[in-house]
Amino acid sequence: MKIKCPKCDKIAELGDDFTYVKCSHCSLDMSYGEYVKFIAYKDARYSDVLGDYVSETKGTTSGTLDEW
Ligand SMILES: [Zn+2]
Repeated sequence: MKIKCPKCDKIAELGDDFTYVKCSHCSLDMSYGEYVKFIAYKDARYSDVLGDYVSETKGTTSGTLDEW
C-alpha cells in the first residue's frame, strides 16, 4: 500500500505483509520496524520544532494589543 515517505515526503510503498518500506524517489529501503522508529524519531523532533515555533510566536505576539 502507499504511504508517505518519511525521508522525502513523496509516495513510498509499504509491503502488504508490513515487512518492508520502499521509496523509489529517495531509494529508501527499510523494514517496517525501522520505519516506525524513523517516524517516531522524526515526529519527536518535529514536535520540538513546533513547540519552539509556538512559544516563539506567543512571545512575539503577546505584546500586541490585537491579542488581548
Ligand atoms: Zn522517499
